[in-house]
Amino acid sequence: MYKTQVFVNHEGDMFRTRLTHSLEVAQISRGIARSLGLNEDLAETIALAHDLGHTPFGHAGQDALNQCMQDYGGFEHNFQSLRVVDVLERRYFNFKGLNLTFESREGILKHCSIKNAKQLGTLGERFLNKTQPSLEAQVVDVADGIAYNIHDLEDGFRSGILTVEMMCEVVLFQKIFSEMKLIGKSASEKIIVYETLRRMMHLLIDDVTQQSQKNISSLNISQINEVRQSIRPLIELGQAVDIGLIQCRQWLKKMLYDHKRIKEMSIQAHEIITFLFDHHMSHLELVPADYQIDHNPERGVADYISGMTDRFAINLHKSL
Ligand code: MG
Repeated sequence: MYKTQVFVNHEGDMFRTRLTHSLEVAQISRGIARSLGLNEDLAETIALAHDLGHTPFGHAGQDALNQCMQDYGGFEHNFQSLRVVDVLERRYFNFKGLNLTFESREGILKHCSIKNAKQLGTLGERFLNKTQPSLEAQVVDVADGIAYNIHDLEDGFRSGILTVEMMCEVVLFQKIFSEMKLIGKSASEKIIVYETLRRMMHLLIDDVTQQSQKNISSLNISQINEVRQSIRPLIELGQAVDIGLIQCRQWLKKMLYDHKRIKEMSIQAHEIITFLFDHHMSHLELVPADYQIDHNPERGVADYISGMTDRFAINLHKSL
């Protein structure tokens, strides 16, 4: 709850966090999975866990920690999500981690470097052989993109960084917005924007469901092996809408993620993460026992830092 999606938690209570983002991804995933007759519980599990490995301060935090870990195998948030459920969560007498199924773990590990994939046995094979994961994992992948593009537009608008005039540069947004302006003549601009975003999400979910259903029937897919061996992912948006979503993502990067107010936060995040890493490396006794790894202290420090919330990291940095 207290980890950044785009806006640092203390900037305001109404912005998305990792938790609300994950809940939205789970809801969208469940909806698509239900329409396609897939395993809804699996899709939900993957969605809820997909961002567990994120550091505090969003991507800025992950880049900083990856730099700190450069000589020790690097830091990848997808790989860390798997590490959380496989190793770091301790809830059982007899084993580390949560004892999740292969299919859940496969879905959680969305991307993985070849180097890390080689250490993972069966789970890493798909990154080496370039095969596809389950349809449920593919659903979550697309749902993640749908969720963050829409909610980042909304949060950007709410924050005042993005205005309606600016958002009309996003083709998918503009088309629906001009329709909504005609329908909702007397409505406030805010309501027209929210109505537009809601319908935009509906359009994306509808489109991915239809295109994926078409892919599955036209290729006559009935076995999981056929899903895995398929050259391309079977769950995807249709080409036209996909191009629209890519344009939206690139626009958001330029207008929101690279905005001065967000970038300033990134610089601070970098300082805090780097300081915490260096400080704990030279004072390993400060690392809580659960995170101490004798033969690999750097990994333990990275585990400790990546599990922090924004405010914990800020407070610890201040007190040290
Ligand atoms: Mg995500």
